[in-house]
Amino acid sequence: MAKLYFKFGAMKSGKTTDLIKTYYNYYEKGMNVLIMKPGDDKKAGKNIQSRSGAELHTNYVIPSHGNIYLIIANHILNVENIDCILVDEAQFLTEAQVNELAAIVDNFNIPVICYGLRADAFTNLFPGSQRLFEIADVLEELKAVCRCGEKATFNLRLNRINGELIPVFTGEQVSIDGIDAEYDSVCRSCYMKLKRKNENK
Ligand SMILES: [Zn+2]
Repeated sequence: MAKLYFKFGAMKSGKTTDLIKTYYNYYEKGMNVLIMKPGDDKKAGKNIQSRSGAELHTNYVIPSHGNIYLIIANHILNVENIDCILVDEAQFLTEAQVNELAAIVDNFNIPVICYGLRADAFTNLFPGSQRLFEIADVLEELKAVCRCGEKATFNLRLNRINGELIPVFTGEQVSIDGIDAEYDSVCRSCYMKLKRKNENK
């Protein structure tokens, strides 16, 4: 039986690098891999780009409330069979879209591997991640390292003000890395210390 996977981690935990590696593992065996990502991620347009600069073309950018089940059913019917589906930036999926991915796994017997952030810059789960934690078959944490050497699990949002990067602790949930804001992945202890420092200013 195919499975629904959620590989999660903080920023810079190598999610996209892992996705690209997985893609080539299937590709080299002559298998058809479909790559999708939600449309909210403006980074690199239709492409998926890792920090090391490696890039892959996505087959589908998923519209905000697009039905993924219909996209895949249509692809199988009119284009070709699919051996595996990779979803980048899965935190931006809706709850309904994660349910659709689960139905794809169960009804078409296609493994779906989702990559995404656990929580936003204010320590709250993203809707897509929450649903994946609830229903995925396999959860795997990809690890990032904090500036202090501990495991980084929190995403610190940084705004550039007068050339200096200042941590921010309020704002919109979605602010795309490298476009609207910058990020650093930190451990909980460092995150809380910076937050207290910010509040005492
Ligand atoms: Zn730390």
